[in-house]
Amino acid sequence: MLIGVNWFVELVAGKYNGSGFEIHAQSNSFMTQHPYQYIYGPVASWRLGCSLGIDPLSTAQKTCSFDCVYCQAGRTKVLTLERKVFVPTEALLEEVRRVPSEPFDVVTFAGNGEPTLALNLGDMIRGIRTVRSERIVVITNGSLIWRPDVRDDLALADLVMAKLDAGSPDSLKTVNHPAEGLDFEEICEGLRVFRKNYPGKLALQIMFVASNKKLAADIANRAQTIHPDEIEVNTPLRACAVRPLTAEEMVPITDLFRKTFARIPVKSVYEEERKKSQPYCRQSTDRRRGQELV
Ligand code: SF4
Repeated sequence: MLIGVNWFVELVAGKYNGSGFEIHAQSNSFMTQHPYQYIYGPVASWRLGCSLGIDPLSTAQKTCSFDCVYCQAGRTKVLTLERKVFVPTEALLEEVRRVPSEPFDVVTFAGNGEPTLALNLGDMIRGIRTVRSERIVVITNGSLIWRPDVRDDLALADLVMAKLDAGSPDSLKTVNHPAEGLDFEEICEGLRVFRKNYPGKLALQIMFVASNKKLAADIANRAQTIHPDEIEVNTPLRACAVRPLTAEEMVPITDLFRKTFARIPVKSVYEEERKKSQPYCRQSTDRRRGQELV
């Protein structure tokens, strides 16, 4: 059965202004029928292959514990640290059961905000395992990983990709604009504790823009203390408020990480193949993925 939903959707459009993309929300109210509210894709991820996206928040307004300068979803409307149930687990599972049975590479929790804000993230992961056999990934900004309950939920995934764009409390403020009460050292310690106890794969994803490109050495030093299984060096190639670094600018950064992490894979966004995908629901996907630049 398809669910018909009347949606109030914020479409995020990007307009180039010479130095970056201005993100401006266009509030469009329209009556339409969407087969999916909480899932999107499948999308072709340069890091994960063919990925079915799960948005455990699925809020009309972006809800996050960070307000990153490069966010493809524009400014954070609800900046919060409060965990709560945004989407009932059974409602999500009902959608997942309707997805065609052909396999993806992974099922990925991400979306339009921070997935660990969902209090029922662990229940959702457990539930999806009863329906699908693909590996489960959570992409998190890592801001709440100092909480034991968040670490317990993340530990249910096969792969956790955590953000580390800063090498100090000051650079966290400059790049990620965290919610009041977040502490950089606590986040790093949470990542270390999680790494120690987590049997799955931990990747650190590091987004570079103009404001942190000179901090690559600090970030690499900090990343070393966490002992990840993989490093992903990125720059925003979807429309956002700042310009991406060029392929040439990314070369010394990537080299530095490859020297620092000689024993683990270091992936760099410009070096990876970028495939196209055919989402089941274009609206549901576009509002979470934004506009691709290259
Ligand atoms: S953590 Fe992710 S969703 Fe939140 S503001 Fe940063 S890029 Fe956007």
